[in-house]
Amino acid sequence: MAQHFDLIAIGGGSGGMAVARRAAKYGMKCVVIESSRLGGTCVNVGCVPKKVMWYAAQLNHALHDAPEYGFDATLTTVDWPQLKSGRDAYVKRLNNIYARNLANSEVTMIAGHAVFASHSSVMVNGETYHADHIVVACGGRPAVPDIPGAEHGITSDGFFELASLPRRVAIVGSGYIAVELAGVLNALGSEVSLMLRRQHLLARFDVMLREELMEQMQDDGIRITTGVSFSSVERADDQTITLRTDDGVMDGYDTLIWAIGRESKVNGLNLDVAGLSINDAGFIPVDEFQNSAVKGIYAIGDVTGQAALTPVAIAAGRKLADRLFGGKPDARLDESNIPSVVFSHPPIGTVGMTEDDAREQFGDDVKVYQSRFVPMYYAMTARKPRSAMKLVTIGATEKIVGCHIIGDGADEMLQGFAVAIKMGATKADFDNTIAIHPTSAEELVTMR
Ligand SMILES: Cc1cc2nc3c(=O)[nH]c(=O)nc-3n(C[C@H](O)[C@H](O)[C@H](O)COP(=O)(O)OP(=O)(O)OC[C@H]3O[C@@H](n4cnc5c(N)ncnc54)[C@H](O)[C@@H]3O)c2cc1C
Repeated sequence: MAQHFDLIAIGGGSGGMAVARRAAKYGMKCVVIESSRLGGTCVNVGCVPKKVMWYAAQLNHALHDAPEYGFDATLTTVDWPQLKSGRDAYVKRLNNIYARNLANSEVTMIAGHAVFASHSSVMVNGETYHADHIVVACGGRPAVPDIPGAEHGITSDGFFELASLPRRVAIVGSGYIAVELAGVLNALGSEVSLMLRRQHLLARFDVMLREELMEQMQDDGIRITTGVSFSSVERADDQTITLRTDDGVMDGYDTLIWAIGRESKVNGLNLDVAGLSINDAGFIPVDEFQNSAVKGIYAIGDVTGQAALTPVAIAAGRKLADRLFGGKPDARLDESNIPSVVFSHPPIGTVGMTEDDAREQFGDDVKVYQSRFVPMYYAMTARKPRSAMKLVTIGATEKIVGCHIIGDGADEMLQGFAVAIKMGATKADFDNTIAIHPTSAEELVTMR
């Protein structure tokens, strides 16, 4: 007889793990079904291994600066296989920790690919499982363009499998993954070309961040080509890769990375059997409570098209469990003021409205404070990367509706400011806060 659960989570990534563990805390009988490695994108091919590589790149920058601080450090090259094996071992430890966490939470784990068998049941490895509540948390995958020869490129997934540092790499894309991979590879010693269809990086970010980053990446030696669109890719006998546009070629690369966006992983789920469908962008549409169009089926995380960030998937999962089983009927993900960081070089931290969006919505009620400076660390070095900060305020009270930072430390700086902004802080609140000196963060409370 088919087994029955209170909740089935399809996908053991950030969202699926979160919803099942929170529901189990309320005494519910839950199962997580995972077709690959526990932890999903973030742990295996996303945030975690990416951040290890970013740390390695930061170290390389520091080693370059060290002689100017009086150290006799001699920089050779990174031992990529050692870096990779240390990183992979860490990810494996996390996979095990995630498995233990599920067991400790008394959540059943099934390894296999789930497909819907009806609106209230799924099938895995030939067995059928029923549930009152089914949560689709199957995440996404990197998109690859539909052009001849696209298979000669890899994606961010393949980046984490590279056995050696690419010598000459082409990265196609303008989003945060393209920017992050370009920064890491450049710092570690690859010759990097970043190719964008648009004129600028990071389309939805504040213009100050986009411009500063583009300039900084170019100063660091990354070749950025804008306004290019490729029609085909070829790999020669000597393994070099050529990208063709309608009116030219770009050639001589040993590695090509597609970073043109991500798509949801719904194919193969038999959504139609459950009565579900996807929207034009390929995501499962949900309302503000993560309800799909079918009663008892919900979707969370990257499969919904909501902000594709791990903490967003986790928050959506926990709030859903709170609402269904925790006696909190109004619990839901709050999508306002979601802070996010781009692990570029230097990093970016951003929360709230861009200046352009604020001006469009509030017109002359917008007042912007901005600062641009070279952090004190670089007083001792020939390298002079700038930091830039912007506060977007509205109305007579100068309520802060946007905070945008690019520069060393932005990644760690933003979280606290995001709390203040979420609480409705004004420019006067920032001004009334005593600065911490000497830091870069103090600029945010001393802007004139
Ligand atoms: C390179 C990269 C860097 C990133 N960096 C950051 C970052 O710094 N910070 C941040 O917040 N976010 C980052 N992200 C985004 C973050 O990883 C995702 O937003 C997050 O993992 C989404 O969680 P999820 O639960 O929706 O999906 P996932 O984590 O993708 O989990 C979905 C799981 O479902 C499984 N699955 C799919 N279909 C089935 C099926 N039919 N049956 C069983 N299992 C199935 C998959 O194998 C997968 O494990 C990054 C992503 C990438 C690609």
